[in-house]
Amino acid sequence: MAPPPQKKRVVIVGAGAAGMSCAEQLSQHPDRFDVTLIESQGYCGGQAFSIPIDEKKYGASWMNQGVQGGSWIYHHTFHMFKERGRQAEPVDLEVSFGKGDKFWTNCFPTKLVEKHQREIKRFKWAMKIMRWFEVFFALIPIKVSLKMFFFSEEFINYMIYPSLALFLGTGNATPDLPSIMMERLYTSPTYGMWYPVDDKSLSSRKPPMVVFPEKTKFYTDWQHALEERGVKVRLNTEVVSVSERSSKRVKIMVRGRRPQPDGHNPNGADQDLPEHEEEYDELVICTLADTAKNMLGKKARWIEKRVLGVPKWSDDVTVTHNDAEYMRKWYTVDFPPETAVSKLGDRDESERYHDGKTAFNPMYLIKQNPGDPRKLEMCFDCSAFQYQLNQGKPFEDHVFQTIFLNTKHKKYWSKDEIKKDKIIREDWWHQLCHGWTHYLGCVPWMWLLQGKKRVRYAAAWTLVNAHELAVVSGMAAAYSLGASYPEELENDDFALLCFRLYLLLDHKTWYKKGSHRD
Ligand SMILES: Cc1cc2nc3c(=O)[nH]c(=O)nc-3n(C[C@H](O)[C@H](O)[C@H](O)COP(=O)(O)OP(=O)(O)OC[C@H]3O[C@@H](n4cnc5c(N)ncnc54)[C@H](O)[C@@H]3O)c2cc1C
Repeated sequence: MAPPPQKKRVVIVGAGAAGMSCAEQLSQHPDRFDVTLIESQGYCGGQAFSIPIDEKKYGASWMNQGVQGGSWIYHHTFHMFKERGRQAEPVDLEVSFGKGDKFWTNCFPTKLVEKHQREIKRFKWAMKIMRWFEVFFALIPIKVSLKMFFFSEEFINYMIYPSLALFLGTGNATPDLPSIMMERLYTSPTYGMWYPVDDKSLSSRKPPMVVFPEKTKFYTDWQHALEERGVKVRLNTEVVSVSERSSKRVKIMVRGRRPQPDGHNPNGADQDLPEHEEEYDELVICTLADTAKNMLGKKARWIEKRVLGVPKWSDDVTVTHNDAEYMRKWYTVDFPPETAVSKLGDRDESERYHDGKTAFNPMYLIKQNPGDPRKLEMCFDCSAFQYQLNQGKPFEDHVFQTIFLNTKHKKYWSKDEIKKDKIIREDWWHQLCHGWTHYLGCVPWMWLLQGKKRVRYAAAWTLVNAHELAVVSGMAAAYSLGASYPEELENDDFALLCFRLYLLLDHKTWYKKGSHRD
């Protein structure tokens, strides 16, 4: 009798959305894969986690940090929520950009919008041209393509850049993004959160979005479900380096971490703890690209060194606070009668003006730094955005999350103005800058890295820094190892198309329906 086929020993490094999704799919085939998931922090979820807050004061006992929500196209993320009996909640997004005579919003027209009427019309036309000649404009940096259409500095800096930074999460790197991202945001009926362009007020609708359920609970339940299916989840454990790599096996050096009370282990600590070596058949790296490159060290192939070295990073800090005075000083949080207008040209806007006057409730706010309007500060009014906090509490009892972008631009930060006793928590993030070079030097070449000498990559940075992409990338890595793709998603045309395109781009594989099922 033939011996039973040996299980593939797969180690996944990083239990963020990508690593968890990869483990999820592999764990559907316990007869074929022996899965180990290693995470350096004391929790699963990576950039997606929740924190406890004062329920009496804020109306809920928790709030989501980092990842807060997304759009209705997040079908793979919704699938994972559904598997754990959870769901995202709908919200119609109200935004507030700038202050004083530079203020505008998608809720009602203002003097800034009125002033740029002709440019807004021209912008709609420019987006159409970019859509027709998408191949030509695709990788041209936004700052260049906007100049090609002779838009004014004020229009670009105060209207266009903040509108893009908001949805793409690209902060101060927005001018360097490839133009296709801007064009799609304004012209695509599927991906375009600002679609359709309103030729009088740029955007006059509230983009329908979703807010995520309690992330830490969701990820903890997910961790337990994986463990029940035989996945070995090892928290507080860091993969230090890849010590050996061949066409047959991969060996890694692993070190324990000292657990912290809040589960967050400081970067670079615990180096005094001992390391040991472990051997696997396959390695899936679900960390950021620069971490992956360091981990591979001398074992990186020359192309890996090149491709993984392309993404640029920004060190940002979010301050979660309750300083209403700071918010009023720097952002437009209330309806401003002095800048709102009730007519745009010959179009009557009194209904939107009235709605704004009675119910303006901005959830996402952007401040342009006085020294340089291209240096942004972004803020969530979490009490308006996150459903569990949206209890009609007075503004003074709202929770805000302000993000100060890129330590290199620290001189523009007004972080020290937030009162210390109003600060709930500070978190540092190492974030991808989605510059056009990322789409020229990294994304198109990832397929050359995948599966070579037993190493694969999955993470949001492989395409766009979004939770949905992380989930898709994890599923794609699992599929390339021989795991199946969920039937529910296969029957969802949009999800299937996204998965197929990602798999083709990143693994040069075309997904065949029903493949890899037991
Ligand atoms: C402040 C902020 C807000 C965001 N908001 C949103 C949002 O609202 N909606 C949205 O869609 N996206 C949002 N994003 C982007 C989103 O968080 C990411 O795209 C996605 O969650 C990344 O998942 P990932 O699995 O690729 O990486 P990560 O979540 O970064 O996971 C990587 C994991 O690897 C672990 N790790 C690293 N090195 C090692 C090692 N050596 N050994 C073991 N483990 C290691 C890390 O601890 C981490 O858990 C936001 C990001 C930030 C920073």
